[in-house]
Amino acid sequence: VAIVRARHSAVYPARFMLIAATNPCPCGYAGEQERCRCSEADIARHRRRLSGPLLDRIDLLVSMERPDPFAFGRPSTTSSVRLREKVQEARERQEARLRAEAITVNAQMDARMLRAYIPLDRACEEILAGAHKQRMLSMRGAHRALRVARTIADLDGSQDLSSSHLTEALCSRPEACLSRRRAA
Ligand SMILES: [Zn+2]
Repeated sequence: VAIVRARHSAVYPARFMLIAATNPCPCGYAGEQERCRCSEADIARHRRRLSGPLLDRIDLLVSMERPDPFAFGRPSTTSSVRLREKVQEARERQEARLRAEAITVNAQMDARMLRAYIPLDRACEEILAGAHKQRMLSMRGAHRALRVARTIADLDGSQDLSSSHLTEALCSRPEACLSRRRAA
């Protein structure tokens, strides 16, 4: 992070996780037929404001449904305590695997490490090649998807990366979410 004031500037190291939210359209009600007042052109213009190069750097895109007002107060199916344990276990697996590289999490793996630590079987290679061919995935996007897929496998307690881990990671990418929305 670079901080610049009148005569001085300072650069500090920073490692951050970006979490962002946006409305689906200018009025905020896209997907709810009667309530949304936006035209197709309004919605297209709104979505173009999220540039490809920005989306390419985002790993997970989740569409949130408007909550059912009657669901408040209902107990959730997974407790935060259990989820925390699962995340901790997954992080320990990553740390153990990456110890020799002096990094601790999958997100820090560079291209060489991806090749070394994520051997791909035939099915995974075909999925990646297919996504690439459909212009769904840039090289950067593919690397990001592999890191996410490896983390999904770690949450699963799985040694190997399976095609279902990779598919899940690709389905959470902005390219997939936005093309699903466009189709809907
Ligand atoms: Zn709208």
